[in-house]
Amino acid sequence: MAEERSPLDAEIRRLIAAAGPMPVSQFMALCLGHPQYGYYFTRNPFGGGGDFVTAPDISQMFGELVGLWSVAVWRQLGSPAELRLIELGPGRGTMMSDALRATKVVPAFREATTVHLVETSPALRERQEDALIGSGFPIAWHQSLDSVPGGPAIVLANEFIDALPVNQAVKQEDGWHERQVGIGDDGKYAFTVAAEPIAHFERTLPATVRSAPNGAIFEWRPDYAVLDLCRRLKRNGGAALLIDYGHVASAAGDTLQAMRSHRFADPLAAPGEVDLTSHVDFEALAAAADSVGARVHGPVTQADFLMRLGIEKRAAMLKRAAPDKAGLVDAALGRLTDRSARGMGGLFKVLGLSARSLAGLPGLERPRNQAGGAPSR
Ligand code: SAH
Repeated sequence: MAEERSPLDAEIRRLIAAAGPMPVSQFMALCLGHPQYGYYFTRNPFGGGGDFVTAPDISQMFGELVGLWSVAVWRQLGSPAELRLIELGPGRGTMMSDALRATKVVPAFREATTVHLVETSPALRERQEDALIGSGFPIAWHQSLDSVPGGPAIVLANEFIDALPVNQAVKQEDGWHERQVGIGDDGKYAFTVAAEPIAHFERTLPATVRSAPNGAIFEWRPDYAVLDLCRRLKRNGGAALLIDYGHVASAAGDTLQAMRSHRFADPLAAPGEVDLTSHVDFEALAAAADSVGARVHGPVTQADFLMRLGIEKRAAMLKRAAPDKAGLVDAALGRLTDRSARGMGGLFKVLGLSARSLAGLPGLERPRNQAGGAPSR
């Protein structure tokens, strides 16, 4: 008996039957962003009952510190009377909700700020509205950054870039070939590579990647999202805070991963039913920003960033206010700043972007002798 296929599964198979194997990036774009059946459109991926947990879910301290960071940056900008506080991919709206609450201590910030959420998923927009309706701030939603009105902006993004489609190439004897998704002999999805190598690919690769052995995989994302963002910051003033898991130096490695119910899953097995992400190449991101004349701050590890912003003090305050929750606060603090190999504090990096005129951003001074980390799962 034929297996029952989901509508997205059937559609991807039709596309492959018609046009041949598709680039990994197209497969990922369909799985996550298909307007009817994409992962973000059909499910609520977050929290205990979802597929994964993000930093804002772990503790309110995360969003609160991001809120206080935003106030500090607004002051650095000269406390403009109108500020756009923009978030890219706000998920359930938890981080923004905690951030806005923390800014209440600065009424002038509150008066200056309108909130703009860039979110493509109608289901998640509803969740965000539920989370933010009582915040007292004016909130608007946008399909993309383009439609957010001009003026100075602070742009926040947590685990946004890792969800943008990634391209992969595999090194072979005659060069780098685009990695694709096709259908194997057993009828299941399978990775394959394009017949011809990508022309002139090596020229754009960092030297460390160029010398990778045959079979190595290199990942890259199109730059346009970060270029748009940088141009906006240069034109209108402001700063961006990008938090994501990834590596500070470009390196070869396959980091495409699927999560389902908090476990790693096969990225090809159930299109649209699992979360697909891949690590962010912060060196490439910084180079793209630099190429259009933006200033790059960091990256620093999430642990360093949160420590510098005073997460320990924040934790102590929360514990004093609710001693019965002290264990939970300590556990969350430990998890957010865990620097061990697979801990969030070290795996996640924080990068700031701004116009050149802003010499520094809070918490993002780059430590000297920072070692590059190779990508790993
Ligand atoms: N920042 C949240 C959610 C991260 S998941 C958190 O930390 O919990 C990624 C988010 O980005 C989701 O809200 C998803 O719907 C949104 N998203 C993915 N691709 C997008 C795109 N191209 N434009 C706008 N939002 C997008």
